[in-house]
Amino acid sequence: MQRPAVVSNLAELRQAVASARAAGKRVGLVPTMGALHEGHLSLVRASQSECSLTVVTIFVNPSQFGPGEDYDRYPRTLDADLDALGTCGGGILVFVPRTEEVYPPGFASWVEVGPVAEPWEGRCRPGHFRGVATIVLKLFNMVGADIAYFGQKDYQQALVIRRMVEDLNVPIEVRVCPTVREPDGLAMSSRNAYLSAEARQQALVLWKSLCLADAMVCEGHRGAAAIRQRLRELIQSNADMRIDYIALADPETLKPVEQVSGRTLAALAVRLGSTRLIDNRFLEPPPS
Ligand code: AMP
Repeated sequence: MQRPAVVSNLAELRQAVASARAAGKRVGLVPTMGALHEGHLSLVRASQSECSLTVVTIFVNPSQFGPGEDYDRYPRTLDADLDALGTCGGGILVFVPRTEEVYPPGFASWVEVGPVAEPWEGRCRPGHFRGVATIVLKLFNMVGADIAYFGQKDYQQALVIRRMVEDLNVPIEVRVCPTVREPDGLAMSSRNAYLSAEARQQALVLWKSLCLADAMVCEGHRGAAAIRQRLRELIQSNADMRIDYIALADPETLKPVEQVSGRTLAALAVRLGSTRLIDNRFLEPPPS
């Protein structure tokens, strides 16, 4: 197992990417906040399957955390991350920028994305997507990759980034890769590390409730209000859980649907003590 090379300054990064390009290599980008797990590594492998150089960025971006959120305690595990990337094989360069280089004194430009950034995470975490869109555009500009890889786990984030890329004519392709789950269905997340053994068991209710929604749709239920109510009851049977939202929506616009008449996204966010977890899945009504 060989750890990948790490660069932390922008000039070095640009030089490495320029030499890869001069050698005719396609460049992939996998933006992360570190504390890497199989979900992140699946994005790295997706990039490796299409690109000869994969730039993995590790940066806990302060501007996407609100006051009182977990920026300070977010897991920072660079050594373990490099070991994990070492298992993925060659063609990886890790970019770990310093916060002062990303946000130098006087930094004052932000990216605001419209309606798809408004509901769900946007409403529960004011300013979150402004921070996300800004850092992602900065990383796109810093790295100059051909293709960027994101996870469906953060579905709304991927949609916000697609919108930004289209609206601002950013010359990059965006790929959204499937959510990687633990064997029992829990979506992998760096924040799972916060969970006690008991909370880890309770957290399974996110996936269970998404599967319940799927089962209801397969059984012929179509009314979104009734489906959401069943999910609410299932989640609230757990005294420690606080629901931020349960949504059934159009996958492109995120507008709520009243009837599940075509491919629909079910998405939810739940707080378990001080840990906030999100998950989603598509619901596909069988042809009648
Ligand atoms: P994060 O480090 O949490 O900011 O995530 C970095 C990237 O990994 C984002 O594109 C996430 O959507 C993606 N990601 C996180 N968890 C998973 C997962 N379980 N499966 C697939 N992708 C994921």
